[in-house]
Amino acid sequence: MSEEMKALREQLLRNDKNGYDTLDEAQLAEMEAYCADYKAFLNAGKTERLSARAAIAAAEAKGFVQYKRGMALKAGDKVYTCNRGKGLMLAVIGKESLAEGAQIAAAHIDSPRLDLKPTPLYEDSEMAYFKTHYYGGIRKYQWVTIPLELHGVVVLHDGSKVDVHIGGKEDDPQFIINDLLPHLGREQGKKPLNEAIPSESLNVLLGGKPFEDKDCSDRFKLGVLQYLNAQYGITEEDFISAELEVVPAGKARDIGFDRSFIASYGHDDRVCAYAELAGIFDAVSPKKTAVCIFADKEEIGSEGVSGMLSQAFEWFMGDMCRTQGVALSDCFANSFCLSADVTAAYDPNFADVYDKRNSAFVNYGVALCKYTGSGGKGGASLCHGKNAENLVIKVPLGTVIKDAESGLVIADLSDHTPVTIAKGGRGGYGNAHFATPTRQIPKFAKPGMPGEDLQVTLELKLIADVGLIGFPNVGKSTLISTISAAKPKIA
Ligand code: MN
Repeated sequence: MSEEMKALREQLLRNDKNGYDTLDEAQLAEMEAYCADYKAFLNAGKTERLSARAAIAAAEAKGFVQYKRGMALKAGDKVYTCNRGKGLMLAVIGKESLAEGAQIAAAHIDSPRLDLKPTPLYEDSEMAYFKTHYYGGIRKYQWVTIPLELHGVVVLHDGSKVDVHIGGKEDDPQFIINDLLPHLGREQGKKPLNEAIPSESLNVLLGGKPFEDKDCSDRFKLGVLQYLNAQYGITEEDFISAELEVVPAGKARDIGFDRSFIASYGHDDRVCAYAELAGIFDAVSPKKTAVCIFADKEEIGSEGVSGMLSQAFEWFMGDMCRTQGVALSDCFANSFCLSADVTAAYDPNFADVYDKRNSAFVNYGVALCKYTGSGGKGGASLCHGKNAENLVIKVPLGTVIKDAESGLVIADLSDHTPVTIAKGGRGGYGNAHFATPTRQIPKFAKPGMPGEDLQVTLELKLIADVGLIGFPNVGKSTLISTISAAKPKIA
């Protein structure tokens, strides 16, 4: 290669390098230490509540104090506020006024899981189970035959709240969702992956040891309730006021002979949340106020009081702005927000789902994702679903439209007014539609809705031009058969 070309390559071409080739010994040790802390954070925070709690404990150890409404804040002050135990926001007050904007990082701490339904406990064939409702983007087949833990809170009859954590400690029992034996699963095996394990079959096995009294019904259910009552004071009714989550058991583990990967439940998106936390702990006296958001409910569209569609973030920022005499809108207009989440790194095992030239790679640092992959650039880039054309069917005046099934009249077209009998589909909205200053890259979009489907019968009411009136047998039918092509029955 000529010197000129070499220089040009260096000057013009991207030259990404594997992180292992660029870090020195000290940096590698620092990275390993960071990963050890990250694994501890994963292990301590298997649910959004536990993640928030772990982050608060770490923050308080670093001098963060709970934010109180109207609190006077000066540069360098460190505060946090927890939204209903499930969302968390932290701030380090900057030297500049909030009117100059804040530097915001946002990630979510809720992960896909199975929630218990409000009446979860039942017994069938002398075994007790929990009915579950899946939360977030789970791949159902991954949830059978793996050990599971149960975490959450239950509000008891007297209003007191108890924490429930079963399955995480060494001698704790764990739970499982059954799957079929290979030879019984032949039919199941022919189904598409996403249909082979129906969501309604994700029932968690709880026990098979009955309550002693042989004459009572619900013996297996009672056996479970007896245990829960002794341990936590729970009765069946208390499940209604509970938030219990079923998550994979086990701790974050190193993967590979060289320990270069970490396997764990809940990387999405605690990997970003933890990075944010480590980042804000490093922000000792920032110029601009540094803000960190740990959002809940991202997995299900950021809904709810602890999700980003709530006013919690605006409230927190607005209140801090007010104490500085700053309008929230001025602060937001000058703020910068890094919205973080996990993305997929190129995996040669599934090469066909990646565009190798535009993929993130393991060990190449932070991945920047400008759009997601489903539906073209759907759900990502300023697109709006297309509405369908109207289908207009012209019918003669006097047509009666009836529902084919019930026979009910839907419309009686006795004048020229058009009638809509089945609404057409509606185009969806891309995520750009939902973007706000604080939610710059919404991870949700609204899918289009299919149109109404309807079977109808059309009847034409005949309107006569001439009427022929006469007594029976005076020759009305004979007259018509003679002067027209009609063939009436002549008596
Ligand atoms: Mn995520």
